[in-house]
Amino acid sequence: MSELVPITVARGDGIGPEIMDATLRVLQAAGARIAPEFIEIGEQQYLAGHSSGITPEAWDSLRRTRVFLKSPITTPQGGGFKSLNVTIRKTLGLYANVRPCVSYAPFVRTLHPKMNLVIVRENEEDLYAGIEHRQTDEVFQCLKLITRPGCEKIVRYAFEYARRHGRRKVTCMTKDNIMKMTDGLFHRVFDEIASDYPEIETEHLIIDIGAARLATRPERFDVIVTPNLYGDILSDIAAELTGSVGLAPSANIGDHVAMFEAIHGSAPDIAGKGIANPSGLLLAAVLMLVHIGQPAVAETIHNAWLRTIEDGVHTAELHGTLSIGRPFGSMDFADAVIERLGQRPEKLTPVQYGDAPAAVPRAPLPRAPQARPRAAKALVGVDVFVHAAGVSADFLAGQLVALAVPPLALQMITNRGVKVWPGGFPETFCTDHWRCRFVGPDGSPITHADILALLQALVARGIDVIKTENLCTFDGERGYALGQGQ
Ligand code: NAD
Repeated sequence: MSELVPITVARGDGIGPEIMDATLRVLQAAGARIAPEFIEIGEQQYLAGHSSGITPEAWDSLRRTRVFLKSPITTPQGGGFKSLNVTIRKTLGLYANVRPCVSYAPFVRTLHPKMNLVIVRENEEDLYAGIEHRQTDEVFQCLKLITRPGCEKIVRYAFEYARRHGRRKVTCMTKDNIMKMTDGLFHRVFDEIASDYPEIETEHLIIDIGAARLATRPERFDVIVTPNLYGDILSDIAAELTGSVGLAPSANIGDHVAMFEAIHGSAPDIAGKGIANPSGLLLAAVLMLVHIGQPAVAETIHNAWLRTIEDGVHTAELHGTLSIGRPFGSMDFADAVIERLGQRPEKLTPVQYGDAPAAVPRAPLPRAPQARPRAAKALVGVDVFVHAAGVSADFLAGQLVALAVPPLALQMITNRGVKVWPGGFPETFCTDHWRCRFVGPDGSPITHADILALLQALVARGIDVIKTENLCTFDGERGYALGQGQ
């Protein structure tokens, strides 16, 4: 028998301690080979002055064990408190958020009884980089960052997950008809990596129709891989569709550390009553056992849990016509699962985890991201963003053209991405935020010194420059979007 695997455990706030005790009881009874190390996180740590709700000692444990089973925590109301989950994800590089969404009809009421899908959401990039600025009186911006290594990691993870779990199809969802560069990269990487998995069916859907189909025909999906924001929204929709947000687990996976938790919160309204459903956390622990290379124990617990549900053993929030007796409390429910260890469900589909090897440390990806040769980059222009209220595009253009700072010349002005000069429409609504594009003659390269000279001239004329974005080509390919209307 292999050694005990150290794991870090946080009992959390609200119903956290109750559901964690119930979960650990089942793990122990099932023979999970784990050595829990308990840490304190959450409300008390926030109130003690740790702005992310976690102490330095807790970080030490996480970095040592690299596996985290976490109960929900309460984030205190008011400003100054940072999200613990976001802090942990970003600090430890947990790039993949994995959320299985499964219906348990007829035992859990749902409109979609055949639903069984997994959402693999990119967890670190996109609009969640948290780079936001107020630029003018009227305009605020949030930067959407999508990187090639980020796309490669998450897309490969999704395909590896599909292969490892015997899933037949991976669907990619983006909005690359609009965001051709950022979402376009995600889609392109998806197509590239898909060719390494010929046995897996693939498709790409624009996120709006994809979300609509998920809401109406979720049974047509198997694994969905998507950038951070879409995944955040989709995964809540999907969990809700199963009819059982309280049963859904999630895994946050990185190259070094992985975190497992229920998707629900600390439920302060029922805390301390012993009635919370421990299933979300228990199923998160099942994901953890697969991750640490104990798939047989994971399978035993999961099948016993399915049997428990179909036997009508239900906690209060699931209680209905198919339930037996009074609603079960958290610990009684755990004991009912323990009684069924070794049994399999008869109506619900049993799970099978095979003999998946330990993913701690994560097995190296089959094809390590190759070091790409650096592209030949040429600077060909600059977008200068200007704060100017109460002016027209023609007036602003007149000022900028008059500056004459060769080799740069004003090519166009856009407002909220719509071209307003030259040849703008009077109907276009304009704010106080203008993007002014300057380029060299015939697309020839310019220098950083040219941009500095332009900026000096602009500032000398009293123009309020907010920021600049360099326009570059990479191996001769345009590395910037054209303004709408061009
Ligand atoms: P919640 O998920 O805690 O509760 C929503 C509703 O679902 C409540 O009626 C609750 O009683 C019920 N519920 C949730 N889990 C249940 C369970 N296991 N069994 C039975 N019923 C359950 O959401 P909320 O009320 O919006 O948030 C409460 C606190 O949780 C907040 O402080 C929030 O910040 C925090 N939160 C933490 C996490 C996390 O730690 N990952 C996630 C979400 C919310």
